[in-house]
Amino acid sequence: MIRINEHYLKLSASYLFSTINKKVAAYEKANPGADIISMGIGDVTRALPQACIRAFHSAVDEMAADSTFRGYGPDQGYDFLREAIARSDYQARGADIAADEIFISDGAKCDTANIQELFANDIVIAVPDPVYPVYVDTNVMAGRTGAFENGRYQGLVYLESTLINGFMPALPKGKVDLIYLCFPNNPTGATATRDQLAQWVAYARDNCALILYDAAYHAFIRDDSLPQSIYEIPGARDIAIEFRSFSKTAGFTGTRCAYAVVPKTCAAWDARGNRHELHGMWNRRHTTKFNGVSYPVQRAAEAVFSEEGQRQIREINDYYLRNARLISDTMTALGYRCSGGANAPYIWIETRMDSWQFFDMLLEKANVVCTPGAGFGRCGEGFIRISAFNSYENMQAGLKRIRAVRSS
Ligand code: PLP
Repeated sequence: MIRINEHYLKLSASYLFSTINKKVAAYEKANPGADIISMGIGDVTRALPQACIRAFHSAVDEMAADSTFRGYGPDQGYDFLREAIARSDYQARGADIAADEIFISDGAKCDTANIQELFANDIVIAVPDPVYPVYVDTNVMAGRTGAFENGRYQGLVYLESTLINGFMPALPKGKVDLIYLCFPNNPTGATATRDQLAQWVAYARDNCALILYDAAYHAFIRDDSLPQSIYEIPGARDIAIEFRSFSKTAGFTGTRCAYAVVPKTCAAWDARGNRHELHGMWNRRHTTKFNGVSYPVQRAAEAVFSEEGQRQIREINDYYLRNARLISDTMTALGYRCSGGANAPYIWIETRMDSWQFFDMLLEKANVVCTPGAGFGRCGEGFIRISAFNSYENMQAGLKRIRAVRSS
């Protein structure tokens, strides 16, 4: 009899966004013609930058002639893209990362989901709370947790991000082996200062731990004093793997391109205490299970690093950040405590009531969809996330409706 991986049975009820979609669909069915404004989902709404479109088109044309056609590319990605990333995203900011330490992929979701395969099943894992759910669910599927009880999986260490600590979790009290961090943070919009990141790097070095640093939103950082990469912190290249994506940086959510940085100095140990370089292990995994991102997409991603591309992505991301300011200013004026939004596309708003009730109230009274914080973990209860990814006009309309509900 074919049997299942029973760890899947531990996964908590349903995925946050499918629950939201079901609720919205039920509301629309009961209220045909309702004009609903989505202020919840983290998907971009603006078109790809022109520089990317031109590079994309011209690479498609290359595929149309035998003389320039390309079949399988290098599993790790084309050198032209890896070199552009190493130069612009790292070396230009003083981070010592080489092109051959970069692995191109089709998404930071897949990379942050797959990386756990490299590690033993009995390691101690620390995850943020609230959390981007992929970090948790993939470890549940792999059998690294116990049951889900009272909103948490047994066996995981939860790094609590709250109003009190400014959404920057304290270092673990005990020893953990693997630490997931995400800055700018989804969902809280919090950012980490250089000093704060340096403390995490020191913790990891002292404890032979590894940090998985998700920097999917680095392009929204406008405060120059904030690090965009963990590798801007001395010593980080020995203890951190970083994930980035073109999804939010350059509007590639539907185009798909991302990368993981696995420095050659990053290591982990086997049960006998022998040291193993993670670069070689990830290379083995990547080349076995992945056949590369399409050539036109990699050419489109390369164009992000041209002068024109940099100017265009800045303009697009500044547009979203203007939305973020509008959300934050409006909600603050309505008496809600808000964080995030200045260097991140998410605003984390204290509701002072159950976050699903607040979601229902906004849906029913304002026809506005937000994301209930409880869906991101126990510390998300009492908060909602509003996303800056939408048109300015839609944001204005949605906020006007929230203002009307608040004053009624
Ligand atoms: N990491 C974080 C924190 C995210 O919020 C997201 C997408 O929402 C991703 C990774 C996934 O990015 P990608 O589109 O590259 O899979």
